[in-house]
Amino acid sequence: MEKVKVSIVIPCFNEESNIPLIVDRVENIVKKMNINSYEIILVDDGSSDRTLEKIKTICEKNKNIKGLSFTKNFGHQLALKAGIDNSNGEIVISMDADLQHPPELIEEMIKKSYEGYDIVYTVRDDRDEKNLFKKITSKLFYRIFRYLSEIEMDEGSADYRLITDKVVREIKKEKDPFIFLRGLIANYEFKSFKIKYKPSKRVHGESKYSFKKMLNLALSGIFGFSLKPLKILLLIGLILSMVTIFFYLFLMIFDGMDIKIWLIGETLSVLSFFVFFSLYIFSYYFERVFFLLFNRKNYIIKERKNLN
Ligand code: UDP
Ligand code: MG
Repeated sequence: MEKVKVSIVIPCFNEESNIPLIVDRVENIVKKMNINSYEIILVDDGSSDRTLEKIKTICEKNKNIKGLSFTKNFGHQLALKAGIDNSNGEIVISMDADLQHPPELIEEMIKKSYEGYDIVYTVRDDRDEKNLFKKITSKLFYRIFRYLSEIEMDEGSADYRLITDKVVREIKKEKDPFIFLRGLIANYEFKSFKIKYKPSKRVHGESKYSFKKMLNLALSGIFGFSLKPLKILLLIGLILSMVTIFFYLFLMIFDGMDIKIWLIGETLSVLSFFVFFSLYIFSYYFERVFFLLFNRKNYIIKERKNLN
């Protein structure tokens, strides 16, 4: 495939109304910067609305717009990965379809890459975030992630970022089915520049990130970059077992062997809860290994438009 100057990757899940708007805004910016060699890659992540039709129509009219569609909903991170895997830009910018990532920042990002930065990433300014639950859980996640992974990832990091082809080459090698791009890219430690931005309001539709999807993303981040949870669990298990043994010994010595049956029941419940909880956490690690072991495909492409 012919190399282009800039690729813009946009994952789309049920975004039929936003697609024409985002394409228009992004095209205006690259044209204003006199960049004629560009591609906008729209990745349809198994939408159930008319997203794919919209993508096809735009691709018919404009060869700079390229389309990919998945057989089913593989999720935002894999849609981004597929877009990056199929990109040919000297620089690649990823952004959301709903216009929450202000397209105007693209100009500043590109200028920064000309100054020699390989990554220009953005960080959400959450001060105006109305959803208190989202605000607190997001803060908590970044703290836990930083502690467990020892990767310096800024609070509020978004998937709105520019990367140069050096970084793209590394991402293309990744095979993780539960990829967490924010953590991965921060971990590469290429020369990076940070831009703060205020997220705009979603133009059409509602958030496509359900609580379940958000939780899964957070867990992929944590379990993909740290084995500490397993070690912490092992330590807690050890402490719990020791406390139980000492407790029984204490009762046997000072209470004359009269260990109450309910007490045994209680401690057994605590210990078995703990064992099952540990197995549950372990299954997250195992799931990853399982996928990689059988060399399963991370995503399956149904159709391509203007892409070989
Ligand atoms: N998205 C996706 N697959 C999904 C969920 C979301 O491709 O399973 C896309 C979505 O279309 C949007 C971006 O990922 O372009 C971010 O999603 P959204 O705006 O719903 O997330 P929020 O801003 O609420 O965190
Ligand atoms: Mg959004």
